[in-house]
Amino acid sequence: MGQNILVDEIGYLPMDPKRAVYRGEETLQFSVIDKKTGEEVYGGVTGREIYCKAAEEKNRIISFDALTEPGEYYIKAGDEESVTFEIKDWAYRDAMKSMLKFFYLQRCGTSLPKEHAGIYAHDKCHDTDARIYGTDTFKNVSGGWHDAGDFGRYIVPAAVTIADLFLALELDPDLAKQDFDAPVDYPEMGPLLSEIKYEIDWMLKMQDEKTGEVYHKVTCMHFCDFFMPEDEKDELVISPTSYAATLDFAASLAMAIKFFKPYDAEYAAVLESASKKAYDAAMKMEVKSFRNPEEIVTGEYGDEGLEDELYWASAELFRAFGDEKYRKTFEEMAYTHISHGYGWEDVYSFGNVAYILSEYPLDETLKNIIIAAIDAKADSLMTLCRSNGYNVSFNEKSFIWGSNMYLIQNACHLYTAYFFTRKEYYLEAAIEHVHYIFGKNPCNICFLTGYGTNRVMNPHHRPSAAKKEPMPGMIIGGPDSGLHDPTAEKHLQGMPAAKCYVDELLSYSTNEITLYWNSAMICMLAQFTKDYKERK
Ligand SMILES: [Zn+2]
Repeated sequence: MGQNILVDEIGYLPMDPKRAVYRGEETLQFSVIDKKTGEEVYGGVTGREIYCKAAEEKNRIISFDALTEPGEYYIKAGDEESVTFEIKDWAYRDAMKSMLKFFYLQRCGTSLPKEHAGIYAHDKCHDTDARIYGTDTFKNVSGGWHDAGDFGRYIVPAAVTIADLFLALELDPDLAKQDFDAPVDYPEMGPLLSEIKYEIDWMLKMQDEKTGEVYHKVTCMHFCDFFMPEDEKDELVISPTSYAATLDFAASLAMAIKFFKPYDAEYAAVLESASKKAYDAAMKMEVKSFRNPEEIVTGEYGDEGLEDELYWASAELFRAFGDEKYRKTFEEMAYTHISHGYGWEDVYSFGNVAYILSEYPLDETLKNIIIAAIDAKADSLMTLCRSNGYNVSFNEKSFIWGSNMYLIQNACHLYTAYFFTRKEYYLEAAIEHVHYIFGKNPCNICFLTGYGTNRVMNPHHRPSAAKKEPMPGMIIGGPDSGLHDPTAEKHLQGMPAAKCYVDELLSYSTNEITLYWNSAMICMLAQFTKDYKERK
């Protein structure tokens, strides 16, 4: 079997456009074969040649939209055969559950029982008080989720993670009821909100009660070896407060209020007060990027541009509370500069969406300007999609550290643009990004652990390495042409940008996982679900 017909290895939805990619020199006849009967159920000819510079290969699209019958299939063309894939009603249900459960499995400060965590069960971890850097003061900051392949807990990515999950819940309220086989601490809230509360309870502990500023992170001084979390015994250190952490905290907690209010008014009041206090504190802080203190070498999450954090927080607090001061700050900034971004570095899109969806009276002219800017950005992404053999909004310069996240964010942007403009082609383009992540990509691999025929086996994730079994439900970072770690340097010299990926434990720049890569994918799939329900 060749490796040159690339498909979504998880599957396609019956009524959706269905595309696979053939990479090769000639136009070929292709057949879609029913795996059960061995019979051809659909046939055609591969599409026109598209040269994919990022992958340095010639691509031809295989379209089989008309095949809507649920079943298991594979595609044949010449000597090439794809892996088996399904056409199935809501084919991503199981993947979604797995991605949600990941948050539970990343819990810190508690033990995870075998009953729910299986081989990833562990004793209570990181439950000692942490030293505030440069002082002899200790503080209880236990709880929350381990951020990534390491056991650090960082406010900036945490805020973006819960923001993604709140957007997902806003788009698809049914997600709140989705069971993902984890204990539910607050059954009345449902599994997902209950799990998010576990993270927010930790975030609240990261705020300095006196000043309202928010500590950037809590980690040990160094990254530890590949063992389970309870075996990391070094002293926990709380890094100094930062402007970005304080504003991201304010923004994401403002988002949280309306979700928790129906179940726990007291908790909602705590969130409101913490959010406002953080915003006010940030106004008095020096606008400065966080830098690791000299002895601390764990993830920095430093951020060069900090205007977007104020932009997001102002929009979110305006949406939550309606105060003029938040509105004025946001509007002044938006009239000067509108940008986009759903990542931890660039959070403009969260601000744009919060302002447009605000129920308080707002500047309608500005609202329309923002929607036009979202439309224009989506239009530029479409140009990239059309010239890419995999129909995704990437070129050869796009494959940077965490490329899969940026790809998913582009899809979220296309969905946002569809939401406000109803241009169908944005939706179709976004769906191709889902297929890319699940296997229709130049690396010929499903970037969600535990899924696909060609699957990731060695993610840079300590519990997976300790148990010698990849934890399912994690979105992998993906190709990075910068070759940012020695393993990538060793294996990927001279490779085309789109293929700079290696399934090796030590390749943290291509094969790590993070909370906010999962949450971005969940947000994208929630939009997909909502839209799918509407189309049915
Ligand atoms: Zn822990």
